[in-house]
Amino acid sequence: MNDQTTTQDAPVGPVKIMPTLASDLVKAIALDHGVCIRPVPMRRTDLVTGESDVQYIPCSHTLASVCPPCAERNRKLRATQCREGWHLGVEPVIERADPDDEPRMWMGLRAQAQAMRDQAEKAGDPTTDLDDAIKEIDAEIEGCGVKGVLKTGEQPDRRTRSTKRRPDAVDLPRRPVDKRTIGKTYLGRDGQTFRPSLFLTLTLDTYGAVHGRRNGGACRCRVYHGKEDPILGTPLNPAAYDYTRAARDALHFSKLVDRFIQNLRRFVGYDVQYFAAIEPQRRYAPHIHMAIRGTISRTELRQVVAATYAQVWWPSTGTVKYAGEGLPVWDAGIDTDDDTVPGAYLDPDTDAPLPTWDEALDAIGDDDDPLHVVRFGPQVDAQGVLGDSADSRRCIGYLTKYLTKQVAECHQIDTDEQAAHADRLAEALRYEPCSPTCANWLRYGVQPKDAKPGLTPGYCKGKAHRREHLGYGGRRVLVSRKWSGKTVADHKADRKNWVLARLAEAGVSAIDITDPGRRYAWERPAPDDPDVKPLDHRLLLLLDQRITRRAQLDQAKTDLGLSATHQEAA
Ligand SMILES: [Zn+2]
Ligand SMILES: [Zn+2]
Ligand SMILES: [Zn+2]
Repeated sequence: MNDQTTTQDAPVGPVKIMPTLASDLVKAIALDHGVCIRPVPMRRTDLVTGESDVQYIPCSHTLASVCPPCAERNRKLRATQCREGWHLGVEPVIERADPDDEPRMWMGLRAQAQAMRDQAEKAGDPTTDLDDAIKEIDAEIEGCGVKGVLKTGEQPDRRTRSTKRRPDAVDLPRRPVDKRTIGKTYLGRDGQTFRPSLFLTLTLDTYGAVHGRRNGGACRCRVYHGKEDPILGTPLNPAAYDYTRAARDALHFSKLVDRFIQNLRRFVGYDVQYFAAIEPQRRYAPHIHMAIRGTISRTELRQVVAATYAQVWWPSTGTVKYAGEGLPVWDAGIDTDDDTVPGAYLDPDTDAPLPTWDEALDAIGDDDDPLHVVRFGPQVDAQGVLGDSADSRRCIGYLTKYLTKQVAECHQIDTDEQAAHADRLAEALRYEPCSPTCANWLRYGVQPKDAKPGLTPGYCKGKAHRREHLGYGGRRVLVSRKWSGKTVADHKADRKNWVLARLAEAGVSAIDITDPGRRYAWERPAPDDPDVKPLDHRLLLLLDQRITRRAQLDQAKTDLGLSATHQEAA
């Protein structure tokens, strides 16, 4: 029985209660019914008739702390998406509704979102929501098959120096990569064929011993810790724990994952597909769970893991050049019809401009070491999983378990040891450059890429520095392009809503691409728009819609001779 049946009989219709509690009650009922509790108003204008009204779209937020129904819906859709692609038996056909229109539409939104983002940044407003929306739109554009997504944020370093293999790296045989994306089938003893796939967990290296349960046994501190002991994951000796390396590994974890997939494909010789979730361990280091289609032996996986590393060719951060009072000063430059001198950060004493980002990169010599090399730890945890089994359901549960939470919310901080551990990591992340545009570069005497006024080392607004992200600023779910054929229609609509809602909140007008005729124009209502109902009223409207739709669905099922869900439950 699915859980919808339990909400089916929840009280509906007029409810008599104390008026002071009414809004709480509406919210509670909305939660019961899985209705978004912070719907976003959008004015919709019919371009044919000229009629205009206000519609409420679900906020589609992925965090349960923001909107539990939307977050839960997203989690369930992700679980469905994961299940759909994991054990595919035929090559997926990637379908797109309209090959020309869709990328163009997304690109239009992308431009609007970027303009809003730049404006917000200039005004010193938070840009997080817009940054997330932009990433989401980029993924959509890429999903449309458009290569070379606009890189307005972090750009891959195109310099050629780093192609040399590290002398300390294991060499990996490479094969040409076949187009095939599905795994092999095997013949069982009873003559049945089966198609195992893989559940893989990869973890970063150690930064120093932490309290743990070695094979469920005693810790190095000689205590048997219970499974839920909050001391688990905190360092035995905080002074010896390498927080700098922990911080850098977290910052560059995405690069390592990319490299691993690349190496794996070249090694096994086919286009391996994956659905992955990135989560923190108790020690606050990110790790990755991956559902991989098809099966690869543990020995092979170990080889690929051992040979995988990512190098960060950034300027050195070995010497602090500016700190405290004497920070570099912004000079606005000149911009007239005859003369253009770009703005720059100057040394506060000599007025000499600091090297630009590109100059600093060019100054890295062939014999220099990269700023950082990130690798996985030696632990490779892999298990074969059959489709539609208890194992596969358990693994999908793992993969989607924490998706409704921020990274730092995944493990509650209860004790002083935990808080101190999180603080030390946050401190290590404070002055660590998170990207080429990071304000922290000024501390090390380099102008950040795309330098602009108002940058102060230690106050970079990048996601990775924030305590709730623990150094990992990337996407939490990574799904390869050929995971499943058609994206689950629901799932796609949901992502679309999410982007539209973020943009609407930021004041970007948007069109709905689910409307192929482009009949409607959507825009954010003005603040004093008389048609925009207060929140309680919106929730009532949405509740009413939900209940009506359920009733219609039940009626349709009855008409078709199927029993309605509440009858099944009875
Ligand atoms: Zn919502
Ligand atoms: Zn211990
Ligand atoms: Zn930064």
